[in-house]
Amino acid sequence: MIVPLIDSHCHLDQDAFDDDRDAVIARARAAGVRRLITVGAGGPLASNRAAVALAERDPDIFAAVAVHPHDASEITADTYTTLRALWAHPKVVAVGETGLDYYYRHSPPETQREHLRCFVREAGRAALPLVIHCRDAFPDLLVILREEDAAAIGGVIHCFSGTAAEAEACLALGFALSFSGIVTFKNAGDLRDVVRATPPDRLLIETDAPFLAPVPHRGKRNEPALVRDVAEEVARATERPLAEVAALTSANAERVFRLPRA
Ligand SMILES: [Zn+2]
Ligand SMILES: [Zn+2]
Repeated sequence: MIVPLIDSHCHLDQDAFDDDRDAVIARARAAGVRRLITVGAGGPLASNRAAVALAERDPDIFAAVAVHPHDASEITADTYTTLRALWAHPKVVAVGETGLDYYYRHSPPETQREHLRCFVREAGRAALPLVIHCRDAFPDLLVILREEDAAAIGGVIHCFSGTAAEAEACLALGFALSFSGIVTFKNAGDLRDVVRATPPDRLLIETDAPFLAPVPHRGKRNEPALVRDVAEEVARATERPLAEVAALTSANAERVFRLPRA
């Protein structure tokens, strides 16, 4: 049975899709994916422009625009000027992904923190929700979100993989939690407990494609069609019918990103 789903976070602009991007989008539709949010922040500005171009040519694709914490050290004042023009685009629905990644530390943590603060302020000015990436950095993330009053802006902690206490703190700030294929991994029992404890009106699903393919595709290139596997795992973990998980995660994504009525 096909159920209507939204992939709330993927990276369709990435080179991994250069050979078959249209086929990937067609497979997503065939699998029931009605809408996709493609995140341009997978590299510097070119990836953002590519994400917006994809959103422009397809009514079911929307874009999120910012610079990933990995690339924070490449940001200049000009970067913000360019991004502001993109945030004003009608198909751009979020500022992101921004955040902190202390696992890879591709950019110095200090630089990541500085730009996270800037992006929260920019999101407030642009009146767009935030897409937050956080790896091994929740204490600092929470300090910045509180100090910058991110609760007034809201958004989603994408690919949530933190602890129950970290989830609670993010929920208390009004953020939704988006779960990826990680919830299908065998050793993700604690994360499935977090899924169960997340209020149903704060639960989103995503692929983060081309990364993080869910079981049984783990290790291969991921694609938006596989958000169905994430939905099935969330249904199992929360003991809800798949159709209910599909309906509530879609409604949540539409509300958080203020998508136009389909
Ligand atoms: Zn991310
Ligand atoms: Zn991502």
